[in-house]
Amino acid sequence: MNSSKRKPVLAANWKMYKTVAETRDFLKVFLPLVNNLSEREVVIAPPFTALSAAGEIIKESELVSLAAQNMYFEQKGGFTGEISPIMLKEFGVKWVILGHSERRHIFGEENSLIALKVKTALENDLLPILCIGEKLEEREAGLTNEILEKQLSAGFSEVGNQEAGKVAVAYEPVWAIGTGKTATPDQAQDAHIHIRSWLTGHFDSGIAGQIRILYGGSVKPENVNELMALPDVDGALVGGASLKPGSFAQIASCRVG
Ligand code: PEP
Repeated sequence: MNSSKRKPVLAANWKMYKTVAETRDFLKVFLPLVNNLSEREVVIAPPFTALSAAGEIIKESELVSLAAQNMYFEQKGGFTGEISPIMLKEFGVKWVILGHSERRHIFGEENSLIALKVKTALENDLLPILCIGEKLEEREAGLTNEILEKQLSAGFSEVGNQEAGKVAVAYEPVWAIGTGKTATPDQAQDAHIHIRSWLTGHFDSGIAGQIRILYGGSVKPENVNELMALPDVDGALVGGASLKPGSFAQIASCRVG
């Protein structure tokens, strides 16, 4: 059970799935299923091309908000293929996922780039979901905490005390993403405690205590309640199991509080 100070966040990362038509179809089924939920935030991160349609549909919802899956750290300029925070805000985007392991490991994003993105997101009133997590070989070599600390200190390097509370951290062990392998409750709780203690060491305790720490990695309807019951898990970032409205509605309806 998370601290009552922190409202749980259940976030869907659709990656490179769903056209505009598929996004509309999903939301038409999904929104009525979650209509009556409260005491949580539900976030949907569709591909860039579907942000406009999704934003139009969810703009009346108090529960559901919109996220982008990535962003560049400049407002405009000669950056072919990139998207700026100003462009995201036009669609009503509230959150932006930064440093996802697929960005880090497929597209070679370094901690230094992610740090600039976090800074720019906050400067533009977007709430970063900063993803961190170790690879399997790093876990097996006993380096998990060291990797998490490195990613946290880079990700927060440009963030002041007052702004830090707006960031959500997503702990996503790389070996658990899209693999069907979920961290055990002990592994998830250990990592979340470590992240919380790093945050407490770097920001005022009131601020550090506001930062939501989400777990991500093969979260599904069958395991979400067990994960959400852990004291330091404040939400979930969900890939595969967020693609079907019934499945993500079950996850969004998890026990909280
Ligand atoms: C993710 O993409 O952030 C993720 C956690 O994916 P999955 O739920 O499919 O493991």
